[in-house]
Amino acid sequence: MYHELEISARSLRQPDAGYARYAVSEHQFREQMRYLSEHGYHGLMVGQALEFPRQKSVAITFDDGSETDFSAVAPILRQSGFGATFYITSGWVGQSGHLSVSQLNELTHQGFEIGCHSMSHAYLTDLNDLELQRETFDAKSRLEQIIGKPVEHFSCPGGRYNRRVEQAARAAGYRTVATSRIHANSPSTSRFALGRVAILSAVPIASFAAICTGEALRRLRAESRVRDAAKHLLGSRLYDRVRGGLLGHQE
Ligand SMILES: [Zn+2]
Repeated sequence: MYHELEISARSLRQPDAGYARYAVSEHQFREQMRYLSEHGYHGLMVGQALEFPRQKSVAITFDDGSETDFSAVAPILRQSGFGATFYITSGWVGQSGHLSVSQLNELTHQGFEIGCHSMSHAYLTDLNDLELQRETFDAKSRLEQIIGKPVEHFSCPGGRYNRRVEQAARAAGYRTVATSRIHANSPSTSRFALGRVAILSAVPIASFAAICTGEALRRLRAESRVRDAAKHLLGSRLYDRVRGGLLGHQE
């Protein structure tokens, strides 16, 4: 799972360090694709990966619909002969830093797969039924109108995912949902709960290699559980302090 690429002399869509952590540099991305080629991997889009070909392969996805999908990612993938799925935030198409309508069409013509990453990048687990429908069904229709092809794959903004999100995606007509849960996928994995691994900036090539073989997944899962627990703990402690009035003395 990739996001916007970091390109020298170009600013990222968001300036904060939390966002930059997910922005792999163009140079690093090229190196990673070269690594895959040299080690006999095929880079696949989600629709191809679902057929679970016998060849050594990884599925490659991009979230958000940044303009770097077109300007930097696609040329590198084409050099390697790799496919990929670009999950687009429908409401962001044509906005600064994002894909334009014509770039989106060009990616489609080049043979890449277009998936949907919601309408507004809202965290889907926070929404009511009507909002959830807009973020799944309406977002899908808008993309289909642009590219003139069915959009069959969905990925969850911020990895927020639960049973209701799955049901909304099924009702909207998607064939798959990609989460941010760290696990490999097999024919027995639910197509509405596909695992993915975020490739972060400054990941050494050896760690990238261990993600692609699956060896690193257990450790990454453990680390993400620790982070979630810390967040949860901090959140509830802060909540307790507010309830106790310790933060309630501003005039
Ligand atoms: Zn996103």
